[in-house]
Amino acid sequence: MIRITQQRAKCIGCNACVEAAKYRWRVSRKDGKCTLIGAVQKKGFFSVIVEDDEEVANRIAAKNCPVRIIKVETLHATSPPKQSLQN
Ligand code: SF4
Repeated sequence: MIRITQQRAKCIGCNACVEAAKYRWRVSRKDGKCTLIGAVQKKGFFSVIVEDDEEVANRIAAKNCPVRIIKVETLHATSPPKQSLQN
């Protein structure tokens, strides 16, 4: 799983992220800024957790964002539950 985060207030609506991952980004008709589809907002940062198959495209989006407001993090799987040592 990966977490994609966007600092939306600083978006300039250039469309670069949409070109990289159009299923995850859309320019809003209301304010011209890009919306991270499926994201929840917390203190001005929008974030969403998605499957690994979106990683490459969204890393390109982050790299191509001219104002550097997209972050992509790999989330490590949690440890498997401890097994009992008793037979
Ligand atoms: S690439 Fe960055 S600045 Fe451009 S629309 Fe996407 S989030 Fe906004």
